Amino acid sequence: MTSRIPPTESADAEVDIDVVIVGAGLAGLSCARYLAAGGLAVRVFEAEAEVGGRVRTDEVDGFRLDRGFQVLLTAYDEVWRLVDRDRLALGRFEPGSRIWQGGAFHDLPDAFREPGRIGAALRSPVAPLADKLRVARMRSTALMGADLGEPSDDGRRSTLDELRARGFSERFIDGFFRPFLGGVFLDRALSAPASLFQYLFRCFASGDATIPAGGMGRLPEAIAEPLGDAVTTGIRVRAVGPDSVELENGSRVRARRVVIATEAAAAAALTGEASPSSTRAVTAWFAARTAPIERPVLLLDGAGEGPVNHLAVVTEVAEGLAPEGWSLVAASGSEPFTGPVETFVPRALEQMNRWFGADVERWGHLKTHEIPHALPSVDRSSAPTPGFRVGSDGIVRVGDHEAFAAIQGALRSGRRAAEWILAEESD
Ligand SMILES: Cc1cc2nc3c(=O)[nH]c(=O)nc-3n(C[C@H](O)[C@H](O)[C@H](O)COP(=O)(O)OP(=O)(O)OC[C@H]3O[C@@H](n4cnc5c(N)ncnc54)[C@H](O)[C@@H]3O)c2cc1C
Repeated sequence: MTSRIPPTESADAEVDIDVVIVGAGLAGLSCARYLAAGGLAVRVFEAEAEVGGRVRTDEVDGFRLDRGFQVLLTAYDEVWRLVDRDRLALGRFEPGSRIWQGGAFHDLPDAFREPGRIGAALRSPVAPLADKLRVARMRSTALMGADLGEPSDDGRRSTLDELRARGFSERFIDGFFRPFLGGVFLDRALSAPASLFQYLFRCFASGDATIPAGGMGRLPEAIAEPLGDAVTTGIRVRAVGPDSVELENGSRVRARRVVIATEAAAAAALTGEASPSSTRAVTAWFAARTAPIERPVLLLDGAGEGPVNHLAVVTEVAEGLAPEGWSLVAASGSEPFTGPVETFVPRALEQMNRWFGADVERWGHLKTHEIPHALPSVDRSSAPTPGFRVGSDGIVRVGDHEAFAAIQGALRSGRRAAEWILAEESD
């Protein structure tokens, strides 16, 4: 069902808002910040009680649980244009990962970022030496680029095709790339575009994976803060038009321009356009008296046993996530975990029992987040957009689905749209 409002007929009806933005996820907030900095009067309406969209943190019994495990890469320059890095008090993951394979865990250190661990990296049984050399080559090529730019349109091939073309062994693809990129793209099939893989590989290679103290939700809070009363939460927009939106309480808000900054499915419901398919994510959160591993490292299921694809003891990474004396464990499944969400926790605990032993039986299950539309699937056949789109109705569309599926993509989409609007306004 579409929810369209025709343009306002009386041209001289009073309008004191320049731009109204639907949705206070990262894209909407970023757009609002740049528009406000450019001197425009902005209002943002958010359906949920808090800002952040897919980047939010719930408080449960004193634990801070991100809505689906995710990480902030320090290479995301869009973040630092808007937020003071010190304010987030980032906790960083160890470079590299620890991989479950053949009934045991094996470290796969990133010797480029931790040269002291080169011996361990070379000895790691996870990858044949030839694959380690391929990673080294790919890394130096990736870092040779002048800046991180953005995913380009080269090739339109899948990540899996790209890895095979680079000569990686199936053993290393299955044992490392599937669980690692399964955590990044939420898709172990590696069907995401190769250009997105190359871009994110460069981001991982050139910075840290981190979590802010208090959880990922601190990021949108920090971005929203300077906007003050311009953001209204807890009110859904039920219809949009080229110069107004209608709120769920029936009131109409007029503006000279309207920006839709919702997730793809909600944007489709408002505009009547088709929605891209999306990937589901599941994260189960557990409280443990003893951390199953006392390191800030990402654990990966390199055996393809499932349902947990990746796991982290997030209290080893960042401050302010659990009450004193407790550890917080995030166990995440990604495609192909397609079963009912109720089956995830018992199956995950069986798997964790194999990974960490009987101590797992003392873990307390805090909550399971199931995010049905976690990431928009990328259509590799479509032409890239500048990161936002202006429909024939004049309404601007922003969001990760218009750019690329990541924090950086959402923020960039909002910024690019704001720059376009500011340029239009100054003409
Ligand atoms: C489980 C998971 C793991 C992820 N991992 C990572 C990661 O590690 N690194 C990374 O970079 N990215 C990751 N991402 C992706 C990243 O979180 C998203 O790309 C980004 O947050 C999308 O922001 P957005 O503003 O485009 O959309 P959203 O965050 O979806 O914001 C849209 C907003 O619009 C609001 N809205 C919808 N309809 C209406 C309406 N009618 N009226 C008013 N408001 C409305 C929604 O409530 C929401 O707040 C992950 C995502 C998930 C879910």
